[in-house]
Amino acid sequence: MIRKENFWDDVKNELQKSMQAISYEVWIEKLEPVCFVGNTFVLSTASTTSKKTIDTRYLDLIKDVVSSLNSFITNVEIIVKDKESEYLEKQSDSIPEVGLVVDGTAKKEKSRPSPFREEYTFDEFVEGKSNQFALAAAKTVAENPGGKYNPLFIYSGVGLGKTHLLQAIGNYLFKHSPKTKVVYANSETVVNELISAIRSKSNDENNRFREKYRSCDVLMIDDIQFLSGKEATQEAFFHIFNDLYQTNKQIIITSDHAPKDLSTLEERLRTRFSWGLSVDIQPPDMETRIAILKAKASRRNFNLSDEVALFIAENSPPNIREMEGLLTSIFFFSSLNNKPIITKELAAEALSKFIEDKKGVLDANDIVSAVCQYYKISPADIFGKKKTKNIVEPRMIAIYLIIDLLSMPLVSVGQIFGGRDHTTVIHARDKITEEMKTNTRLKIVVADLRNILLNR
Ligand code: ADP
Ligand code: MG
Repeated sequence: MIRKENFWDDVKNELQKSMQAISYEVWIEKLEPVCFVGNTFVLSTASTTSKKTIDTRYLDLIKDVVSSLNSFITNVEIIVKDKESEYLEKQSDSIPEVGLVVDGTAKKEKSRPSPFREEYTFDEFVEGKSNQFALAAAKTVAENPGGKYNPLFIYSGVGLGKTHLLQAIGNYLFKHSPKTKVVYANSETVVNELISAIRSKSNDENNRFREKYRSCDVLMIDDIQFLSGKEATQEAFFHIFNDLYQTNKQIIITSDHAPKDLSTLEERLRTRFSWGLSVDIQPPDMETRIAILKAKASRRNFNLSDEVALFIAENSPPNIREMEGLLTSIFFFSSLNNKPIITKELAAEALSKFIEDKKGVLDANDIVSAVCQYYKISPADIFGKKKTKNIVEPRMIAIYLIIDLLSMPLVSVGQIFGGRDHTTVIHARDKITEEMKTNTRLKIVVADLRNILLNR
């Protein structure tokens, strides 16, 4: 038999995946499960106005989700709170766990759409030396969640396929093991939810937050680095992690760095993240880049020759998202000019602006000189060991900008800065990133410098 509270939580979980966060918070979060009356699930809301909005905008969606989760329940009714007692009098004693066919009356199991991005599957993920371990680990986890790789920690620079792999695991489970309850969240979402739970001071909302994350079989947190400096969320996540881990539920985390280098996260979290398997994704080699470009092109029904693929790959930064961006520009250019055959010349013309931009390439020296001029200090100071505030800030900003604008490997940045360790480099970057969130002056300085450098 199902409990209305648990059932409603499941429904909400699904709704949340397919709705805008704000609409979900305003219209769905505040609904309360009242009871089941026959095949109808009754929910209450505070006012007639909100009932109207929900009826017109969201009722169909709620019904779809409800009947996909339990085919016995085929209807949903939203009522105003003061009518609850009328319905409670008529409520059914018991609702079967899954509405399997009851003398032919129950609806056939409906197929519900996957909440994960359709094109982010294992099939669409091109394997190469740079990502083969991450891909193999992701597949193993998808086939056997809660098995030997727990937690699975995937890290890489931006645009190299972490989110794609997470969602591929989600799509795989959705297809092969639809009963597995998968929660996918970006760590920013977790932070926002927790903040709203804390602010609301309502136990219900707190419980809901905890329930959502503790009741799943597979928890995926994308970009965990955004928990840096968020102590309360880290604390909450620590407990969720322990609960899930102890009950052999699968945890999958992605980040821009290996667990040990996430210096802004609590030590106890970092330790736990290293308990399972950590795998990284490296920037793809030329061969893999070409294979990815060809796969992406054929998905969009464009034929890309090896020559053109190589041309794009050579002119692209080692970031697959940006490489796809170049490909899109070429397709756009091709249809705009009515030239459906993509030759190397056409590609070159389409990317000419980008390639020219690259010619006046910015290098680390340009950045350091710009920062020195701006702060009226000497390069020797920036590269040296002085720890006074007037030197430390520009030094950190220079490091931040070099990483941001040049995508240079951290180790190389460390070398430029007098052989500093790459953790020092990470610290500088994270510190500036963090401070800019609250320090307007710093934000303006960085924006100014960025302007100066990009519009030389
Ligand atoms: P990240 O989360 O690491 O920043 P994403 O997963 O968002 O990166 O990937 C960026 C883009 O690159 C996505 O469109 C994704 O499909 C594509 N991509 C990354 N790696 C591969 C790959 N190996 N094969 C095909 N597409 C890939
Ligand atoms: Mg991502």
